[in-house]
Amino acid sequence: MIDLETRLLIDGKFTPSASGKTFATVSPITGIKYAEVASAGTEDVDRAAVAARRAFDHGPWPKMAPFERGRVLRTIADGILRQVDVIAEVDTRNGGKTISNSRNEVEAAARVCEYYAGAMDKFFGETIPMGEAILDFTLREPVGVVAQITPWNFPFLAAAWKVAPALAAGCTVILKPASYTPLTALLLGRIACEAGLPAGVLNVLPGPGGALGEHIARHPFIDKIAFTGETRTGASLLRASADSMKRVSLELGGKSPNIVFADADIAKAAAAAVTGAFGNAGQSCSARTRLFVQRSIHDDFVEQFAACTARYKVGDPLQPATEMGPLVSQAQWDSVKSHVDIGVAEGGRLVCGGGRPAGLNTGSYFAPTIITGLGNTARIAREEIFGPVITVIPFDTEAEVIAMANDSEYGLNGSVWTRDINKALRVAKGLRTGMVSINSHGSASRYGTYAPFGGYKKSGLGRELGMHALQLYTEVKNVFIDLAD
Ligand code: NDP
Repeated sequence: MIDLETRLLIDGKFTPSASGKTFATVSPITGIKYAEVASAGTEDVDRAAVAARRAFDHGPWPKMAPFERGRVLRTIADGILRQVDVIAEVDTRNGGKTISNSRNEVEAAARVCEYYAGAMDKFFGETIPMGEAILDFTLREPVGVVAQITPWNFPFLAAAWKVAPALAAGCTVILKPASYTPLTALLLGRIACEAGLPAGVLNVLPGPGGALGEHIARHPFIDKIAFTGETRTGASLLRASADSMKRVSLELGGKSPNIVFADADIAKAAAAAVTGAFGNAGQSCSARTRLFVQRSIHDDFVEQFAACTARYKVGDPLQPATEMGPLVSQAQWDSVKSHVDIGVAEGGRLVCGGGRPAGLNTGSYFAPTIITGLGNTARIAREEIFGPVITVIPFDTEAEVIAMANDSEYGLNGSVWTRDINKALRVAKGLRTGMVSINSHGSASRYGTYAPFGGYKKSGLGRELGMHALQLYTEVKNVFIDLAD
């Protein structure tokens, strides 16, 4: 039996919500309740904000030497690594992601903490030359109390991406995980307490985002909001926090292109298109959901892609060989299904999928779905579906495909497949996206934590990971000194 934590973490103590309210999380594998979790209300946000403000203004954390904060982060990383199997199982049971993905993500979360443990003493200010009689330099200071709101598709990893750089910078944190998957953020809180993080530095508040968001955005004790989730929710947070002029960073949706030229390694590109689109059951902001294939190879490529998709193992996510589990909820299933129906009504042809996979009669499983016969202006080629659905669109020329790929309100990620290095680099430069991969769907985040992650246009504001994330959690102070007597 896993020792779940289901209470709020406020000021170093696990506690019920002030109202005593709880909510149920449901396992999408079985469709039945997995845990009953304390539900934070605005009074709990106030309690956490008081604790985080006190810990920032009067506590030791922001004033500690960066390497001392780093030691605590390293201890957190060790705590995570000791519990990989437990945390992974909770994310899989609670959110439906495959156990192999969950394990990879928990290990990656530990690496994130290790990276930031050693990062902040390498994040320097600058000296600015102004002549003999003046010394001018900059300091990087923690931004203050940070509210971090995370989504359900990468519950533990998204929390680590946010919490680790904020703590490294000397900030104090109020973390609000998604209501579908609140449990592993609470485990992170427990590990952080055991690692010796001072009280109030990390508070974890599961609760309804819709009811808490505005209160967080307007709260006078909170200096910054870091949010990952839907573009509409991000925009509403931005509006609500405008009057208090909070710093806001946003990681939002995507509709990422996957461009396959006729001179690509077709077998490799077809196999990779499966994980690019259907990895994490398509519930990934970086999912490559618009597949642009050069017309001369279109039909052959679709055939190979469909054959690879047919081999993709969909089923119980707790089984190690499973490659795709259920969607996070029945509501998500209904939303994905309605998008498929829209695509078909617009004239799309279902190559495979379109609904519940054969033999999986309980749980919110959705078969990998390939749709052809639509253009880039079709609704399903424009809206983020957040499920295993891909639209295949033919193209003729390099210029045409760059224009189509960029004809989206999103600009998060993208891939280009070709053996021509000049063409690959021209397309990579031409795409208005925060990230591009060539002959791959990997982004740096998959292998390490050293490269920036984030998007152009409505895909967000700011960059997470690498040294870039430290910019999100610090203010720049300029110091000017007149040296003349
Ligand atoms: P949501 O925007 O619905 O929810 C994200 C978080 O915001 C949850 O914790 C949610 O709480 C909370 N929330 C909901 N309403 C409000 C509000 N009014 N004010 C403040 N917070 C609120 O997104 P999803 O959970 O559906 O996540 C999927 C989305 O996240 C996709 O669009 C995806 O592209 C994006 N995403 C982007 C990434 C990136 O790096 N660019 C990475 C991963 C996901 P509650 O659960 O209680 O509703």
